[in-house]
Amino acid sequence: MDFVKKLSEERNLSDCELKELIESSKYDEGLFAAADKKRREIYGDEVYIRGLIEFTNYCKNNCYYCGIRRDNKNAERYRLGEEDILACCEEGHRLGFRTFVLQGGEDPFYTDKMLCDIISEIRSRFEDCAITLSVGEKTKESYKAFFDAGANRYLLRHETASEAHYKKLHPDSMSLETRKKCLFDLKEIGFQVGSGFMVGSPYQTTENIIEDIRFLQKLQPDMIGIGPFISHEETPFSSFENGGMELTLRLISILRLIFPYALIPSTTALGTINPQGRELGLKAGANVVMPNLSPVNVRKLYTLYDNKICTGEEAAQCKGCLENRVKSAGYRIVTDIGNVKKEKEKICR
Ligand code: SF4
Repeated sequence: MDFVKKLSEERNLSDCELKELIESSKYDEGLFAAADKKRREIYGDEVYIRGLIEFTNYCKNNCYYCGIRRDNKNAERYRLGEEDILACCEEGHRLGFRTFVLQGGEDPFYTDKMLCDIISEIRSRFEDCAITLSVGEKTKESYKAFFDAGANRYLLRHETASEAHYKKLHPDSMSLETRKKCLFDLKEIGFQVGSGFMVGSPYQTTENIIEDIRFLQKLQPDMIGIGPFISHEETPFSSFENGGMELTLRLISILRLIFPYALIPSTTALGTINPQGRELGLKAGANVVMPNLSPVNVRKLYTLYDNKICTGEEAAQCKGCLENRVKSAGYRIVTDIGNVKKEKEKICR
């Protein structure tokens, strides 16, 4: 059975077929080529850039895998004020960024009102830009307030769609049910929604990954972010092995074929486990990169995992470096708001 051909044509496989494709390297060459062909049919050689602004590394949660979890007493904490955030946007806009991603831990210091004020200010100053939020689980009312203030996209990885696996990665105070509800609330409000999961996280099985794919098929997100699990020394998972690059690349390709229109980043985590990781991610079907726009003096402090790359460079250097990397992989970065292309648009043309 030609699983790759079947996946390309039908955008789906049975659980058994997916398991074979996920666990074996023998399909990789054909799989990567099919995924690249699919992304080129829809997105050409364009790669969208998102300017990442990591504005707080405080978090009230205690996820076992995360370097900025509440119980990491050795983390040096920081918060950016509105003016700092706006300065990052100014610089980003000057460099050609048309999407800003405001990312942070779940930090109650920033009330809904504060976040809405920041969002409205960015919206009024940069009308041609998308505002993406990645600030965790909130009530539907809060999400609605952010949307009304001018935010249009929201990233919230589900991390694992298996109840049992979720409990192994998170303390009892957190629940998969809440995480899923948040994602569906965001969709209902009208956000372009991004979700995703870690590859090779502790205790993950192939069956868990298949559950992740099935959950994404239900959610139908616009963006899907996956990256290898990388351990952080100040967490309970410090001694676990990192996730693998091959499996991450294979899954990027599988996701591209199941969700041809999705925006899929080639993540910094992929670039951290291998110097060519981000280029290979693009070749496997990814079409987004997210350089860092955060001020250089705080970048090293936003460490969800160890040895994170690109923490010492100015925004312009980061963009220049990525431009070269993207070009060397055979694609090109575009100055564009980079909205998801919907299937119906193609049909209408
Ligand atoms: S993964 Fe997110 S919610 Fe969990 S501790 Fe880290 S920043 Fe907080």
